[in-house]
Amino acid sequence: LLGPDGIPAPTVFAEMSALAASTGAINLGQGFPDQDGPAEVLEAAVRAIRDGVNQYPPGRGTADLRTAVAEHQQRWYGLDVDPDREVLVTAGATEALAATLLALVEPGDEVITFEPFYDAYGALVRLAGGTHVTVPLTAPDFLPDEDTLRAAFTDRTRVVLVNTPHNPTGRVLPDEVLRTIVELATRYDAVIVTDEVYEHLTFTVPHTPIATLPGAAERTVSISSAGKTFSTTGWKIGWLTAPPTLVDAITTVKQYLTFVNGAPFQPAVAVGLRLPDAVFAGIAAELAAKHELLASGLRSAGFDVMRPDGGYFVIADTAPLGYDDARAFCLELPALAGVVGVPVSAFVRPDHAAGYRSLVRFAFCKRRSVLEDAAERLARLHA
Ligand code: PMP
Ligand code: GLN
Repeated sequence: LLGPDGIPAPTVFAEMSALAASTGAINLGQGFPDQDGPAEVLEAAVRAIRDGVNQYPPGRGTADLRTAVAEHQQRWYGLDVDPDREVLVTAGATEALAATLLALVEPGDEVITFEPFYDAYGALVRLAGGTHVTVPLTAPDFLPDEDTLRAAFTDRTRVVLVNTPHNPTGRVLPDEVLRTIVELATRYDAVIVTDEVYEHLTFTVPHTPIATLPGAAERTVSISSAGKTFSTTGWKIGWLTAPPTLVDAITTVKQYLTFVNGAPFQPAVAVGLRLPDAVFAGIAAELAAKHELLASGLRSAGFDVMRPDGGYFVIADTAPLGYDDARAFCLELPALAGVVGVPVSAFVRPDHAAGYRSLVRFAFCKRRSVLEDAAERLARLHA
């Protein structure tokens, strides 16, 4: 977790947000919205603070939020979840991931993820003492090769960590890939941990929670977060659902990480989870329109653009513009065009970076006017 000079390295998101701040460039690097989410959700948090919901909440989360999570799993996916024994509220999806891996992974255990992978996965596997095994998703379709996926599983596989819709590629993993994962996890007795924080932010392809597939729920920890759906990334309210024995083990770790978190935000997220279907559909439709806006700007600027199925991000290839090192390109981009992006190489292991060298991830979870401004600025690259 240290940089080459032995000093703790900031994450690429912190680094690129600092670059945007110091240059005044438009920040399409770190994925956070620049507009607030549903007013009902925000008002509920304000009300909770005023009503005195300001002390430690219960260890597993408030009964109301755990019930709202269980209702949500039933309403959207037909999953039966016991709010008392099968739900844990966490400090964002990040703490859910950390507590899960620390609870399950012992030194020598293998954890499989796809690659590129969200940066915390690699760091958390190392913190848990595990061995990180990756299965590549390669441009332009970002789907795994089935034989490579099968070959990744061994008797030492403890966890297969899935992320769909996927950060950074935006890929929604097809059901046949998910079915193969369930088959292999069952054969090798591995736990499936699935990070579905972008579950409601899909554009065309529907999201299938892996826990809905036959044989999966009994070995799956499903993780999500209010941050993405309700544009409240700073609240850090996440949750996981899993069979009781897994929730018990993960709760044991969570109680010594943060103990509890986010008292007044928990009732507000419960309000959010109970909003009508149309509100969720509206959030996804607005994001899809923003994706179109940025993707067409990137295409006009000369990038090859890969189509995401969902999430906050689009991947663009700088090669047609004559660049082959996206990290160097991203460091130059504020001066070239007044925009910040993140090199996809930040989501892969250094020895695997070659295949992703020219790719940049841009976030489109921004106001339309900001995306229009960014598109105009990026057109300068072409001039
Ligand atoms: N997983 C993925 C795939 C993400 O993109 C993010 C947010 N960037 C997280 C987890 C972290 O979520 P939270 O902010 O709820 O901890
Ligand atoms: N998940 C966000 C992203 O991928 C950033 C979160 C963070 O900064 N750790 O950009």
